[in-house]
Amino acid sequence: MPLHYWIETSGCQMNERDSETLAGICEALGMRPCAVPEQADVAILNTCAVREKPQQRVVSRLGDLNKLRTDRPGMILVVAGCVAQIAAEELAERHADIIVGPRCYDEFEQALREQLPGGVMVEGDARPVAEGLPVARNDTLKAFVNIIYGCNNYCSYCIVPYARGREQSRLPEDIVAEIEQVVCAGARDVTLLGQNVNSYGQDLPGDTDFPAILRMADAVEGLDRLRFTTSHPKDMTPDLIQTMAELPSACEHLHLPIQAGADHVLKVMGRGYTYEHFRSLVQAAREAIPGLAITTDVMVGFPGESKAEFDQTLRAFEELRFDQAFMFKYNDRPGTRAEKMNPKTPNDEKQRRLLALVALQNEIARDINRDLVGQSFEVLVEERDHKSAGYMRGRTRTNKRMIFPGDDSMIGEMVTVRADEAFLWGFTTKHSPREDADAEA
Ligand code: SF4
Repeated sequence: MPLHYWIETSGCQMNERDSETLAGICEALGMRPCAVPEQADVAILNTCAVREKPQQRVVSRLGDLNKLRTDRPGMILVVAGCVAQIAAEELAERHADIIVGPRCYDEFEQALREQLPGGVMVEGDARPVAEGLPVARNDTLKAFVNIIYGCNNYCSYCIVPYARGREQSRLPEDIVAEIEQVVCAGARDVTLLGQNVNSYGQDLPGDTDFPAILRMADAVEGLDRLRFTTSHPKDMTPDLIQTMAELPSACEHLHLPIQAGADHVLKVMGRGYTYEHFRSLVQAAREAIPGLAITTDVMVGFPGESKAEFDQTLRAFEELRFDQAFMFKYNDRPGTRAEKMNPKTPNDEKQRRLLALVALQNEIARDINRDLVGQSFEVLVEERDHKSAGYMRGRTRTNKRMIFPGDDSMIGEMVTVRADEAFLWGFTTKHSPREDADAEA
């Protein structure tokens, strides 16, 4: 009877990719995944430290899992990810058996083998991230490939550099080998990951930069779609925009976090660019790449953000018209510079600002999508739409969702679909891509 592992993942795509490594390590030891922690012999929380009160949430989740040990006394509780890195002591006190930071997954296998209670594996910046760990991927059509770990930017509000350490670029040959491997296993859509992909290569000898990595990835035979996230505006170069425009596989989608529309707020955030610079990047990218969709991240209620400064963010959104935005209220992250900044914006004011921005952005996103109704898009068919029988869902190259008539046999195909109706995140249609293709033939 094989042992079972269960993983709960919070946070970003890098954590999702890390969970595939943790799963791979468990599977290499002969374990099988299970859907609920009640059946698990190894329960793993892969944690995120970016959002509000993450430690408390992990501690409470750990409490829930600990209760399950009454019936499963041998169950091993593992905390991985950023909270493991920054709160190892507290997690050990709360009976986590293995605490493993993002740079130490190569030691996880050994700890599991020995079932080391109280094993704490966290490291500082100097430790290189290991290559060649086993991986059990969640998705065969779409794959995440890390190209750079950590971040050197220390934006004043962000915990990532403390949790994930300084930048470490993977070697180009390791990246290309992983892309070849996932494409060979059936991936058609690959996303290159890093906290700041544009810094790629600055810590390596030689002159391989991020555009060069994009060119190498594009050259992998069989790769249809190439994406990347996240790009830091201060490091975005004309060469990168040009490279995106030229490479056939590079998707017409750019995620570029603005964070705020007022220069003073950007300055105290430590972002290293002005609104005007950000605006010029958006303009240059749109000029070079027809049909480009741009998405962003933004934070409201940063310490000291005045009403007038928030209005500048609203005006920036009106001017730049993002296809989508991930919008957050600022909250203190312990240990960051912004935690000590004052005055704090009261929570009800942050909430008011967030609602105003969400309302504006949703209207813009719907308008953009409405203007695209009637156009046809290349869609990678991903899965059945669980809300409407006889419908499938997939993504356009611009990363918008498309829901259309079809069946499971289409999964993995690239089809052309005409959009009938717009919604916030994409389109629905009654046009069956197969019937449309037959009619054209
Ligand atoms: S660029 Fe700034 S916000 Fe992004 S991970 Fe680095 S420190 Fe955090």
